[in-house]
Formats: sequence, structure tokens, C-alpha cells
Amino acid sequence: MRKLAVPVIACLLALTGLYLLRKPPADGGGAVPGSAAVIRNVIFINGDGMAAAHREAGRLFHAGPDGSLAMDRFPYSGQLTTSPADPASVVTDSAAGASAWATGRRTYNGAVSVDTRGRSLPTLGAQAKRAGRATGLVTTAQVTDATPAAFFANAVDRKGQDDIARQYLEVSKPDVILGGGEDWWLPAGTSGAHPDRPSADPSEASLGRRGDLIAQARDDGYQYVSTAGGLAAADGGRLLGLFANEEMFQQNGDVYEPPVDLATMTQKALGILAADPDGFFLLVEEEAVDEFAHANNGRRVLQAMGRLDRAVEVAQSFAAAHPGTLVVVTGDHETGGLAVVDGDAFPVKGTGLRFGLRWTTTGHTAQDVPVSAYGPLADRFTGKHPNTYVHEVLAPMLTR
Ligand SMILES: [Zn+2]
Repeated sequence: MRKLAVPVIACLLALTGLYLLRKPPADGGGAVPGSAAVIRNVIFINGDGMAAAHREAGRLFHAGPDGSLAMDRFPYSGQLTTSPADPASVVTDSAAGASAWATGRRTYNGAVSVDTRGRSLPTLGAQAKRAGRATGLVTTAQVTDATPAAFFANAVDRKGQDDIARQYLEVSKPDVILGGGEDWWLPAGTSGAHPDRPSADPSEASLGRRGDLIAQARDDGYQYVSTAGGLAAADGGRLLGLFANEEMFQQNGDVYEPPVDLATMTQKALGILAADPDGFFLLVEEEAVDEFAHANNGRRVLQAMGRLDRAVEVAQSFAAAHPGTLVVVTGDHETGGLAVVDGDAFPVKGTGLRFGLRWTTTGHTAQDVPVSAYGPLADRFTGKHPNTYVHEVLAPMLTR
């Protein structure tokens, strides 16, 4: 018996091993055979600075206690931690946060998809393009700001926005680029469509050191638009839209009226990208949640949350009509150390109640951020994970 048992057990173990090797992992780990193929399109949405309290405040204000934001109705949600790999900080900035999503690696604050030694890492945006997909980015920040930059460029310092613009044209080549930041695409003295030193912020002026990148974009076949009307009239092909010198709202102001709505830009981008039979990757970002949270300006944060959620609705409607589209909504970090409390500052929709917002900092915090997902494989975004997990899930979908 004993002499027989050893080979029999060995044989059983070998067969079990073979079975395990062949069986797709039950949790869909990495590339699930068959399943990844059903993902054609990925829409990744960043509410910059948005965590649980911003979402709850937005829900109470825009939908009421019995209602929900569009992002709250996504069928799967989880939590992400946001720790950077920074020698001086446990709290991430937008550059390290987006680098974690785009490369799967934690890095230092200010890094744009480079590792802790400054070496460039492959980015999801560039990889998706190499795999034959159309790509795009839409933001109310500068199109070369940290979040979009991390998906489509590499830089040891996020401040080099003119070189990030150059990399878009010469390296990663997103098909659609919509947002602010015209100042970085033009050399000093060339004001472009948006006048230098406007009264709303006299510090704004063209400052690029990489030549006239808008002319270069036109030479490369991009249609260039700078107004809402121009965007509406743009038809297919590659599209560059820069609707402000810097952010599409005044960073230090108390007005949130972007010249083109985030939802409108998202709709336009989807219309163009959907023409690619190989699918697409689109990054969408609302910057104003973060910037008004830095200013502890609750009223404007609520307004920006409403605009962000309209863009989420646009993405979700597109996904509902185009099977094989995954939509993911999250934030890169929490801003403001925000709490929702009883108070009288803001009305709760549909009730006689009111609520207040309490801020504990004008900076970012290390709080977790919620992540919500809709579409095929959305269930991967449950549980609690580091923010690098976004890359772990999306990379196998986008790079094949
Ligand atoms: Zn911030």
C-alpha cells in the first residue's frame, strides 16, 4: 500500500496542478481568458480630490437623502488607499496618485509616471495606443496637468507642462485632447486664442519653451478649437481643444463657470473615439473639486461635484448603449479633510433640512477614496486595495 500510495498521490497532485493551471482564476485575477476580450472601451473618471465626504455632500445637495448621484448608482464600489512612495510625505499629490493608476507603481510626489529613481515607466495611455486603441483625455485643468500627464507622458517633475504637451504630440499621440492650459502650448509673446494677462488673472501668459505646439498639432492633423462653438462644430479625426490659458476656471477665484462643460467635452470625446473599431481609452477629470476644496469653498465644491456627476451620467449612458464599455469613477486623493455635519450652510435637496461642511486642512489628506465601476468586469473594483490596483485591473484590458 505504502509503495503504491506515493506514486498515486504524486499523480493526483500533478493532475490537480494541471487543473488549477487550466482553470481561469475564480476572482478573475489579471487577464481572465475570454473575459478581457469583451472589454472594448475604458472610461476612467477622476474627481480630483474627491473622497467619501465630497460624494456624500454632493448627494445631499444634488439628490437628497433618498436620492443618489449617478456615480452612487454604479453596481460595484470599493476603496483605494493612496500612499505615495515619497521620502517626505505619507500624503499623495495628484502626480504620484495618477502615476500609480497609469503605471502600477507608487512613486514620489511630483513624479509623472517615473519611478522613485526618475526612470520612465510605460503608461496606460501610451500602451493602449500601441495596442491599437484610440485614446483621449478630457479635463477642466490644464490638459498637461498632473493627472492626464501621468497617463500620457513621463516627467521627473510635473511642472514641465510644455514638455508634456510635446510628448503628447510626438510620443503618446492621444486622438482627443480637451481642457485648459493653452499657455503651455505657445512660446512667450504668442498669446493664442486666449489673451495673455487677462484681468481675471494677470499672471496668465503663454510660457512654453517647445515652440508653437498648436501649429505642430495642426501639421500632425489635429483640428484645433478654443471655444464652445468650435468644439460643437468639430467633426471627427484628431481633436485638440484648449478653452483657457490655464484651468478652465480661476484657481483662486470664487466662480465656477467653465467655458465648456465637462459633460459636453466628454460627450464630444466619446463621439470621436467610438469610431475606432478597436476600442478606446478615455480619461475624464474634474479638477475643480480639488481646487475649491483647497480653498475650503464648499459652495463651489458642490457645484463642481454636480458638473462631474453629469459627465459620469454621459459616460454611463454611453456604456449602457455600447456593451463592452467599462466606466470607473474614483478620486486621486482626499482634499480638505472634509466632514459633513449638521449646520445651516447648504440645503438638503427635497427636504427642509440643511447641512454644513467642516474642513480640517487646506491640503490633501491620506483618507481612502471610494472607487465605483459600471460595465464588464466592474466587480473587480470591490474590496480595499492600494491605488496601484487600478493599473492591475486595467492594464490587461488595455494592452492587448
Ligand atoms: Zn490638490
